[in-house]
Amino acid sequence: QQMIVIGAGILGASTAYHLAKAGFKVTVIDRQDAGQATEAAAGIVCPWLSQRRNKAWYQLAKGGAKYYQQLIPALEAETDQDTGYKKVGAISLHHDETKLEKMIDRAIKRREDAPEIGEIKNYNQEETRDAFPPLSQDFQSVYVSGAARVDGRKLRKALLKAAELYGADIIHGEAFLVSENGQLEGVKVNGELLHADKIIVTAGVWARELLEPIGLNFQVSAQKAQIAHLHIPDADTSEWSVVQPPTNHYLLSFEDGKVVVGATHEDEHPFNTNVTAGGVLEVLSKALTVAPGLQAATLVETKVGFRPYTPGFLPVIGQVPGYEKLYAANGLGASGLTSGPYLGAQLAKLVSGEELDIDIALYNIKDAFR
Ligand code: FAD
Repeated sequence: QQMIVIGAGILGASTAYHLAKAGFKVTVIDRQDAGQATEAAAGIVCPWLSQRRNKAWYQLAKGGAKYYQQLIPALEAETDQDTGYKKVGAISLHHDETKLEKMIDRAIKRREDAPEIGEIKNYNQEETRDAFPPLSQDFQSVYVSGAARVDGRKLRKALLKAAELYGADIIHGEAFLVSENGQLEGVKVNGELLHADKIIVTAGVWARELLEPIGLNFQVSAQKAQIAHLHIPDADTSEWSVVQPPTNHYLLSFEDGKVVVGATHEDEHPFNTNVTAGGVLEVLSKALTVAPGLQAATLVETKVGFRPYTPGFLPVIGQVPGYEKLYAANGLGASGLTSGPYLGAQLAKLVSGEELDIDIALYNIKDAFR
C-alpha cells in the first residue's frame, strides 16, 4: 500500500518512520515552514510533575515519555544519527516547603504506574545549584532522574533518515489535497499529482488551510512561542538538569555551553515569525530572575515556533469524517516533543489497521471539525 504523509514535524516524521519500518511505501511531503514547532521546541520530556489534571492528556504524555526508552535505542541502531536525546533529570523549583512536599507526593504516586520517573529526591539549596549552577541560591527542588531533554531538530532528522533507509521518499514542497465530487483524488506537490491508498495529515498549525479547500473546517489554533538560545563559553553544560521554575517558563542546557530559556505563550499574534522586543524581554527577564548566573551568557538567537492546539487543549487522532482515505493527528500543544513520537507510532498503527495501545475515543478527531 502507498501512504502519503503531509507535514514532517515530529508527528509526521514519526508516523512516516513507523509506516516505512512496517513495510509500507511511504512518501513524505514537507514544506519546512519557518515557525515549525518541532524545530523551535525546547525539548523537555518530563510530564509527571505537571499539575494538569486532564487524564487523557496525561496518559498520552506519560506514554510518550516511556516510549523514548524503546525508540532511541532502535533509532541509534538503525541510523548513525545523533537523536539529541539525553536523560539528565529535571529539578522542579520552589521556595515553599509545602508545595515541594506536595510535588514529591504527586511524583511518588505517579511512579506507581510510571516507573520510568526513576529516582525522586528532595534537593536542598546546594544540591539544586549543583544540578544547574547559574541558579540563584534560594531555591530548593524536587529532582526526578527519568526526565530528559531532546533536540527536536535532531530527532526529526534521525526519524526521517531512518524512514528513508526503510524506503520512504521525502519530497520538499507544498502539498495540496485534490478532491473531485467529494472523493479524494490525491495530493499535488511541485506540479505533480500523487495517488495513494491513505493520506495522512500531520501539518501542525497549517492543517486548517490544507483541509479547507476540500470543504473541511479543522479547528487548530496557533500559539506563538519565542525561546532564547544562550551560550556560556567554557562551561560543561552537557549534564545539567532541566529546570522547571514555579512559573510556566523553563531552562535547560545542551552540549557545548548551550542553554535554552523560554518561552512565551502568545495567543494574540499576527501569524508571523518576528522576534519581538516584548518577547525577548519576557523570556530573558524570567530566566535571569531564577538564574542570575546567566547574566553574562551570549544571546545567540531567539527562535519562534507555533504550538498547535485543538479544542480542549487535547490532541486528536483519527480518520477524517467524510473521507475514507484521509487520516490526521494534531493538537500536540506544549508537550508534542514528549508525546509526538508515540502518537506517530499510534497513527501508523491506525492507518495500517493494527490494534492501538491508546484509547482513541479519548482523542476523537470529530471534536476538531465543526
Ligand atoms: P510541526 O512541528 O509544526 O510540523 C508541521 C509540519 O507540517 C511543518 O514542517 C510544516 O512545514 C508542514 N506543513 C504544513 N502544511 C504543509 C503543506 N501544505 N505541505 C507540506 N508541508 C506542510 N514539547 C515538549 O514535549 N517539550 C518541550 O520542551 C517543548 N517545548 C516547546 C517550545 C516551543 C518554543 C514550542 C513552539 C513548542 C514546544 N513543544 C514542546 C511542543 C512541540 O514542539 C510541538 O507540540 C510539536 O513539535 C508539534 O509537532 P507537529 O509535528 O504537530 O507540528
